[in-house]
Amino acid sequence: MKVAAVVLAAGSGTRFGGDKARAPLAGKPLWRWSFDALARHPRVDEVGLVVPAAALGDYRREAPEASFVVAGGTDRTASAKIGLDHTPPDCDVVLLHDAARPFPSEAVVDRVIDAALRSGAAAPGLPVTDTVKSLRDGAVRTVEREGLWTVQTPQGFRRGLLVRAYEALQGSATDDLAAAEALGCKPEIVPGNADNLKVTRPEDLEIARRLARSQPAIRTGLGYDVHRFSNDPDRCLVLGGVRFEGSPGLDGHSDADALMHAVTDALLGAASLGDIGQHFPNTDPRWRAEPSETFLARARELLKDSGWSVWNIDVALVAESPKVMPRSAEIRANLARILGIPADRVGLKATTNERLGAIGRGEGIACFAVATIGPIHGG
Ligand code: MG
Repeated sequence: MKVAAVVLAAGSGTRFGGDKARAPLAGKPLWRWSFDALARHPRVDEVGLVVPAAALGDYRREAPEASFVVAGGTDRTASAKIGLDHTPPDCDVVLLHDAARPFPSEAVVDRVIDAALRSGAAAPGLPVTDTVKSLRDGAVRTVEREGLWTVQTPQGFRRGLLVRAYEALQGSATDDLAAAEALGCKPEIVPGNADNLKVTRPEDLEIARRLARSQPAIRTGLGYDVHRFSNDPDRCLVLGGVRFEGSPGLDGHSDADALMHAVTDALLGAASLGDIGQHFPNTDPRWRAEPSETFLARARELLKDSGWSVWNIDVALVAESPKVMPRSAEIRANLARILGIPADRVGLKATTNERLGAIGRGEGIACFAVATIGPIHGG
């Protein structure tokens, strides 16, 4: 079973006053929330983008993982048709989703896919609960609420049915389900979700921002490093920025602080910002004998620039000698200071390798680190 999704971001945003799909929402543009929600759905195989012609270059650069990025048409129907034309002919279900709906939940997407497979066409909807009035020519009338639903996206279709529906459609439709209805298909409305709101007016963006803040956005990163002991009697062992005088030092371009390197990599990894070798290549003479605090401090800055703050780190050091735990408080205080977090968010354990392997023979020291990060608040 193959599912292709299309995010429609080509709208002019007249009611919003500008290109709303590019409006920033908790560190990323609105369209990116919609795109990511579909891209990470386990049943969605690929996601394409239909965008304003004027912003085509920007979107192509910003969404290299999209299955396609194409310019939209003169109205929503035309844009949806263009998107549909770019989905693979062999896919079973096509999902069409408004870029302005940043929070389609996994459960809603699941229900739409299941119903589209069952009935050919489906959309999430909510029964109208407010009293509905009609205002025409100054006359107020109460509309019978019974049986009225508001309809959301993603709307899902068996691809062949949607192709036929658009071929048969005269003019344009306010949504894609209407095109399928015109073909005589009986679409299903499945339960939507109030959080799956559409950002139409600027004040909707404020609601979306509140919802974005409540989304769990925790990320975890893993770091590992190993350095062999040096034969150079002038090198001193440094772990977590703490000097172990009298212990043989580790070999390396910088101060070879394997502990600090593992933590740096865990942080960079959590934010998908590459690794320590990429940012501080050991071919660069600038980093020669550099205290590794520089790397960790820089990683913290890179995270901050990307909208992330450090929640906690945990470290497991593997060494036959020296005994590290008596210096644990100093190491944790160092890491906490550099990262700007309380020391109770820095875990440190040390173990031997039970004399197994190279580390067990005392040829070097290895270190594992895990970092948890979350979005900076107020951003
Ligand atoms: Mg290293």
